[in-house]
Amino acid sequence: MKKLFVAWMVVGIALFGYALRLYPPVDNPRVTSTFGEYRPLGSRGPHFHMGVDFSTARRIGIDIKAAADGYLDRVVIDKDDIYGYVVILVHEGGYKTLYAHMSDFAPAVKEITDDLEREFNGERVVVQFHPDDIVFKKGEVIGKSGSTGEAMKPHCHFEVRDEGEKVSYDPMLFLVGVPRPIDERVVIDKISVDSTVMSFVDGGEYEFKGDFPKLEILAYSIGNGNRLGLKDIKYYLNGTLIYELSFSKIDWLDFGNVSYVYDGEKSRMNVEEYVAWYRLYPIDMEANLSMIKVNRFPEVKRFPDVSNIKIIMEDAWGMKKEAKIILRRVEN
Ligand SMILES: [Zn+2]
Repeated sequence: MKKLFVAWMVVGIALFGYALRLYPPVDNPRVTSTFGEYRPLGSRGPHFHMGVDFSTARRIGIDIKAAADGYLDRVVIDKDDIYGYVVILVHEGGYKTLYAHMSDFAPAVKEITDDLEREFNGERVVVQFHPDDIVFKKGEVIGKSGSTGEAMKPHCHFEVRDEGEKVSYDPMLFLVGVPRPIDERVVIDKISVDSTVMSFVDGGEYEFKGDFPKLEILAYSIGNGNRLGLKDIKYYLNGTLIYELSFSKIDWLDFGNVSYVYDGEKSRMNVEEYVAWYRLYPIDMEANLSMIKVNRFPEVKRFPDVSNIKIIMEDAWGMKKEAKIILRRVEN
């Protein structure tokens, strides 16, 4: 009986938290970037990727559709910002969906924005709508794909925010009908201990200095031929979970705090490749970031001379990979 009650509570929380069901904003959805990825560039500086990218087969003019029933909250036209042409809808529960890099808006929206665009000629325009103004049904076309803003190629950037737009959630928590990539796999490619980069060998032994190893990993998920950011990384020291990075939601106050999670010296991104090095240690013991779910480094203080490390990585579709290494202290 008690068990059943607990189970109901868990279901209740899950439903309460993410009750909104969203459908992919493009037909034949293929995810090309995941939530929480590292973005080294942009007019706003290095930052976290606050949404999911869907392929539009590198084409401009593909239909972008409302992910659920809702009303138009606002439209942003800003060629100099990272997002370019943006549509933001409001749905049940106050959740908002955002669609960026668009090339064009739906006719009802265009009637209003075309005049403003001419009037303000290249300046940032934000048009706020009233809930009764323009309503969209799930699947209705809200605009066309493009590469406005700082998109390296045409695609649809899709975001989910809370009512106050204080946090963005991983859209995968809400999305239904996004197929798993057929080539899906989780990869740990390289490892860095105290700034020495080495190939990763499962069960391998690595040396470290000082109180704890400055451990970093080059790890990712493969999906549709792309390297995708991971959803979750758990780090165990001698069987105890001491550090966890988890990308379920990111506070907008943390938008630029990428250096806590990624090593900016080693990480990079361009059209050809996405290389993201995850830091598996806190650069600031007191830091309280939305994606650092567990940090027991302040309690552990000093690793044993021989430390058994287990790392469990998980991707956006829940595929897991476990890696084990031994870290041996060589000097103080
Ligand atoms: Zn994006």
